[in-house]
Amino acid sequence: MKCFNHPEREAVATCQKCGKGLCRECAEKHSPCLCDTCAAQIQRDRQQQAKTKEEQRQQKYKDALVDTWGEFIKTAVIGIIVAIIFLCVPSLRADGLDGFGDYVVYFFLVFCIPFGWKFFTYLQSFIPIFLIGTWWFWLIYIGVKACLSILVGIPCFFYQLVKTILTQRKISKLK
Ligand SMILES: [Zn+2]
Ligand SMILES: [Zn+2]
Repeated sequence: MKCFNHPEREAVATCQKCGKGLCRECAEKHSPCLCDTCAAQIQRDRQQQAKTKEEQRQQKYKDALVDTWGEFIKTAVIGIIVAIIFLCVPSLRADGLDGFGDYVVYFFLVFCIPFGWKFFTYLQSFIPIFLIGTWWFWLIYIGVKACLSILVGIPCFFYQLVKTILTQRKISKLK
């Protein structure tokens, strides 16, 4: 058998994928032993797979802001549980709470934290892939996420409430 690229040369190997003959020079080009066409094809397949994976990852985080009542109620239930824990555990309760009004405001503030948390989960879809997978990144991320979730909780709650109502309206109109 002759080399596919160099008809004057004797083949010393064959492409592992398509079986074309390859001379020594051509056989050493790719590892494992592949012809140029098959090597390029495999490279393309790999890139495609990586892209699909990345898209799936992004979708997973974007789904955090899905606007169904089911999802909204789930978040609200988590918020109520967290708020009750914060009110019942003395070390978590804020100092200087005075009177019913203070407790209601505090309850609402803590109640909104899971809504803020969801917003940052959504933002996770935009984090460049090279940062992901490093343990220090996740450690800092979770800490920062928890603190910021408290700050943005209330606007996020209203945003998700309005968004859910609008989406559900649109859906019921389509029906
Ligand atoms: Zn080949
Ligand atoms: Zn060759």
